[in-house]
Amino acid sequence: MKMDRRDFLKAAGLSALVGLGGKGAFELLKPGDVDAAMHHEGHGHGHGHHEEEDTGPKVRLAMLIDMRAIDKEKAEKIIHACHHEHNVPNWGNPKDEIKWIWEEEYEHVFPDSYNEYIADDIKALPFLLMCNHCDEPPCVRVCPVKATFRRPDGLVAQDYHRCIGCRFCMAACPYGSRSFNWLDPRVALKKEGRELNKRFPTRMRGVVEKCNFCVERLSEGKQPACVEACPDVMHFGNLADANSEIRKILRKRISLRRKLELGTKPSVFYLV
Ligand code: SF4
Repeated sequence: MKMDRRDFLKAAGLSALVGLGGKGAFELLKPGDVDAAMHHEGHGHGHGHHEEEDTGPKVRLAMLIDMRAIDKEKAEKIIHACHHEHNVPNWGNPKDEIKWIWEEEYEHVFPDSYNEYIADDIKALPFLLMCNHCDEPPCVRVCPVKATFRRPDGLVAQDYHRCIGCRFCMAACPYGSRSFNWLDPRVALKKEGRELNKRFPTRMRGVVEKCNFCVERLSEGKQPACVEACPDVMHFGNLADANSEIRKILRKRISLRRKLELGTKPSVFYLV
């Protein structure tokens, strides 16, 4: 990525979060602030060398998944990196499964007929699914306690302490990106005998969780864990910056997004 750490944090609106004693972005940016910040960001002055687009927010975080670079082994490595980073339990059965990033077959990823004539070799690849950090996230609209909210940089965050477990967000998400802890995840983690990542909190029974675009790593100037695990497959950056690496890739490659017809404006792109 062309931006250095300082630029990246500044652009992502995260520099203020560094050094705040581990306080989560969730606690620092509440939904009310988000609207104000969006307004401000949309009309603020550019700060430097990149040509910025005149309208809209200056940062919209997005992920590209290169389907020409992925294989089964890499898909598993990516899933492992994410689930280790976030202490995602493995219950060993689909009923209780907690998913942050997972593998799915093409037919289930793109069930509509828009891309039905795509090459068979693409259809056979392991597609990785995750929260799309939608620009118009229906999950955020339905949450009665604002436990999930869209930040000015486009990241759809989840506050585990605020979540009351009503699961409206799960019903509203058209991508199945959210999981509910029916059981105490700490029991599964203990059973697995897994070494926990102490830098990320374990959750409790009765809350919803999902991919968080590694907000905790971004606040330390790091790339998301999946990108670090397979940088040739996963590409993360700022969609609002015409000079960003991901925009350069998107200019060259054909990409698909899931269920665009719903108007959710997903921020995860599949390069084919
Ligand atoms: Fe919300 Fe689902 Fe979109 Fe993620 S993919 S932002 S959970 S609607």
